[in-house]
Amino acid sequence: MASVTSPVPAQEAPRDCPLCPRLVAFREALRAEHPAWWNAPVPHFGDPEAWLAICGLAPGKQGANRTGRPFTGDYAGLLLYQTLARFGLAQGSFAERPDDGLALRGVVIVNAVKCVPPQNKPTPQEIATCTHAYFRPALAALPQVRVLVALGRIAHDAAVRAAGGRLSAYPFAHLAEHRLPDGRLLVDSYHCSRYNQNTNRLTPAMFEAVFKRAAALRAAEVSNLRGK
Ligand code: SF4
Repeated sequence: MASVTSPVPAQEAPRDCPLCPRLVAFREALRAEHPAWWNAPVPHFGDPEAWLAICGLAPGKQGANRTGRPFTGDYAGLLLYQTLARFGLAQGSFAERPDDGLALRGVVIVNAVKCVPPQNKPTPQEIATCTHAYFRPALAALPQVRVLVALGRIAHDAAVRAAGGRLSAYPFAHLAEHRLPDGRLLVDSYHCSRYNQNTNRLTPAMFEAVFKRAAALRAAEVSNLRGK
């Protein structure tokens, strides 16, 4: 059985990572404006023996950038953690605070970009830089991960690139699934952002279907391994 620990002791960025000048400047401005906020690269959160990695885009300004834990303190996290609890992947109560005692079981959340970008929009260069420096090494340091769930196209692209794939061979679509070059399985989902939920682009039922499929793929993998 997987252990329950957080955060994951994988490769993490230092608080003052200098690699993306625009994001560093934004971070510094936020530190001056909101000195009590986290305002630093946000570490991964979850189980170091996770079979499932949820790939997010980047910290939200008043969510993870404020609290220091992925999807904590903003609207997107409500549906995400509620759904994880429904599938037995989260233990404890989610109270939108990093000290609420919530623990993930069998799952880890890893963002493609670790620093909050202005308007929630990282540039292609920033995505490439953080994917290379932290996202890819973090996934590599999670050897039990068999299935990835990508929240949105940017996270999908980062996951494909991190596995050494060509984007043209792995088109993004909600509930699409892909076998990546490293052997892991990728399931796509629309991002659980407030906008997508308010416009019904992503409903709770659609989101649950993604995790149901991820669990089925993992069960099939385990069954195949046992059959060998
Ligand atoms: S986004 Fe990633 S690579 Fe860029 S400054 Fe932040 S931690 Fe460093």
